[in-house]
Amino acid sequence: MPAVALGMPLSAQRRLAPSVEGRPDTDGLIDRFGRVARDLRVSITEKCSLRCTYCMPAEGLPLIAREDQLTAAEIGRLVGLAWTRLGVTEVRFTGGEPLLRNDLADIIRLSKAAAPGIGIAMTTNGIGLDKRLPALLDAGLERVNVSLDTIDRDHFARLTRRDRLDAVFAGIRAAHDAGIAPLKLNAVLLRETLAGATDLLAWAIANDCRLRFIEQMPLDADATWRRENLVDAAELLDVLRTRFALEPLPRDDPSSPAEEWLVDGGPDTVGIIASVTRSFCEACDRTRLTSEGTVRSCLFGDDETDLRALLRGGADDEQIATLWRAAMWNKQAGHGMDRADFSRPLRSMGAIGG
Ligand code: SAM
Ligand code: SF4
Repeated sequence: MPAVALGMPLSAQRRLAPSVEGRPDTDGLIDRFGRVARDLRVSITEKCSLRCTYCMPAEGLPLIAREDQLTAAEIGRLVGLAWTRLGVTEVRFTGGEPLLRNDLADIIRLSKAAAPGIGIAMTTNGIGLDKRLPALLDAGLERVNVSLDTIDRDHFARLTRRDRLDAVFAGIRAAHDAGIAPLKLNAVLLRETLAGATDLLAWAIANDCRLRFIEQMPLDADATWRRENLVDAAELLDVLRTRFALEPLPRDDPSSPAEEWLVDGGPDTVGIIASVTRSFCEACDRTRLTSEGTVRSCLFGDDETDLRALLRGGADDEQIATLWRAAMWNKQAGHGMDRADFSRPLRSMGAIGG
């Protein structure tokens, strides 16, 4: 599939009126399989300061016209109604790289004002975080996940197509010094960096960070992912055990995708999100908004429901909430990666938001 198709024009998959047949009359974001979504991911831009090979094409994603993207005020309103009407308790801003939105502090502040009880988090590559963090914390940001796949400079430059490892380290240091705890690091599991996984874990522990590895999903814009090349959780555990004693921890939150291991008797831990080999779709509690204001009920489901048209057409909060509920009612059962007829979604990870 050519990378250019992955920018996917909104009109190609936009759904205006998903069916609500059989849906009980309840406020929350329930689906046909009994799941309830409480965790909102909002992608706020398709732009990025890196070009990770497992995510973006070398030239970046096709740019979305500014007027097609949700404004800070629109995002704040949607977060507010998600919290007041739909039972959403957590929001995470992502992208692309969320730090590339100049109005990120406004987005956070307006979201916090509209949803005072909601938890506010961000997933970032960390570049520029050191400069932006004070304003973001002041606006109401509470948690930060930084993505870091390797501490090897050459590997980092090859993987991200940019030589910016020091900038990422500076971002991590700033978040740590600002007291964000636990500071979580996300590392995608890749063949090229597997041998360095023990160094990455040792570095995370030494720097007071909680590392989680994620199995690579078929969401790269270049469509090079192949199941037979996957580095899975089992292979990673074998590598980590060459240097660390690992003891599995009981899972206290069934909706958390990470399985945790105690490292060398603790207190440090390492997590593995086995998105491919140990699917957690049956416990999924996510609902997603794209930067163009569509609800995406599943990472892997291309049918999206357009809230932006209602938002800009003068609809009230309850009308928007009703459409959002309908979108989630139609959430698919799972990613289906193990089915023979599996086909990868049109949007790549950088356009959905992880
Ligand atoms: N730019 C930010 C960052 O990198 O943290 C936020 C957006 S990024 C799409 C969100 C998360 O998705 C990152 O942790 C990234 O490593 C992860 N990711 C990207 N492509 C992936 C893939 N194909 N499989 C699994 N995780 C992926
Ligand atoms: Fe950018 Fe994040 Fe995708 Fe890397 S994973 S290209 S940092 S959006």
